[in-house]
Amino acid sequence: MTASHSRTVLVLNAGSSSLKFAIFTPSDDADGLADLCRGQIDGIGAVPRFKASSPDGAISDKLDLDPVQVSAQPGAMAFLLGWLETHFPGLVGLTVGHRVVHGGVSYSAPVVIDPTVRDALNAFKPLAPLHQPHNLSGIDAAIEAFPDAAQVACFDTAFHRNHPWVNDTFALPRSFYEEGVRRYGFHGLSYEYISDRLKGSWSELAAGRVVVAHLGNGASMCAIKDGISVGSTMGFSALDGLPMGTRCGQIDPGVLLYLMGERGMSADEISNLLYKESGLKGLSGIGHDMRELEASDDPRAAEAIAYFVFRIRRELGAMASVLQGLDGIIFTGGIGENSAHIRSEVLTGTEWLGIEMDKSANAASAEVISTPTSRVKALVLKTNEELMIARHCLRLTEGRAAAAE
Ligand code: ADP
Repeated sequence: MTASHSRTVLVLNAGSSSLKFAIFTPSDDADGLADLCRGQIDGIGAVPRFKASSPDGAISDKLDLDPVQVSAQPGAMAFLLGWLETHFPGLVGLTVGHRVVHGGVSYSAPVVIDPTVRDALNAFKPLAPLHQPHNLSGIDAAIEAFPDAAQVACFDTAFHRNHPWVNDTFALPRSFYEEGVRRYGFHGLSYEYISDRLKGSWSELAAGRVVVAHLGNGASMCAIKDGISVGSTMGFSALDGLPMGTRCGQIDPGVLLYLMGERGMSADEISNLLYKESGLKGLSGIGHDMRELEASDDPRAAEAIAYFVFRIRRELGAMASVLQGLDGIIFTGGIGENSAHIRSEVLTGTEWLGIEMDKSANAASAEVISTPTSRVKALVLKTNEELMIARHCLRLTEGRAAAAE
């Protein structure tokens, strides 16, 4: 292990057709971490492409990759390893942090991956069949590529593990709850990052009742009281709650019975419909991208946006009720951070909740978009799930090093 890189963290997020990465290096700032470089390989298994850039502009790389060599995660990892060796020689002995979608009932915090943990993560595959297998193949490929590195799993479910029982269960016979059919909630690393930001800069909100709306291609909302998640719009899977780019969000289970019974659709066909063909894409018939819908004058685009906004407002009211009041609402994710239109549509008419929007601050995507007299603060904060993972890695590995001394 080279001294200079002993605290360097490589963050990996392995999906079905992509491998995203970020490198953080020791620094003197409060986190002890600085963002060195970020990038991704997408189109794995089809037409793989690589791009990477560094905040200082020193790295800006775009490459088409060999589809035969980069046909799956091990090939992608092999390419990334070679690229890292060229641009960051000496990255030996670093810590690798993995974004893992599911930590089941047992993991309420990040964990260093050993064979027992690896087996447990494997056992969660049925809970997240579209994501967990890819996370695991990323972990396996990283263990092979960086055999000396500590590998850390950071879970999207962990932040929600303290949900009260009423918000963790479905009204099914209890045996289903016992076998793990629960409302896990996801996007936990984003909510944890925002929660940490509040602790740093907005202590009265950190100790209060807030709703965070993570609005990206995947979208969910989280009710947080005193820094602890008490509710998520996502449930057993990342399908529930808000409509998303291509996912349906909340749906009456009777629709699924109809699709199976009357249309004869298989589980795979329904899965494809709900995950890939629904949401903004299905409703608009145009596409999943909010920028494209906002730019369109097709009435179906406006209707898709109206449904998205309607569901956010509905969940906001429900969450304010569960929280017994509201002190803050925070927008994050690609849409939450950038779309003044969506934020304005969500907040218009929420004065009864105590929210007074500052129109010009909202139009400018300022950090505070509520008026100075608004009882409820409305904020726009940029999420940083990768940094959250890197922080966890540092805490865990330094904790282990201290324990070993
Ligand atoms: P992911 O869930 O894949 O991480 P992001 O958080 O990057 O997604 O969010 C992607 C979404 O953000 C897309 O729908 C994109 O159109 C939307 N978005 C990004 N910038 C803007 C913008 N300026 N105005 C409206 N929508 C935006």
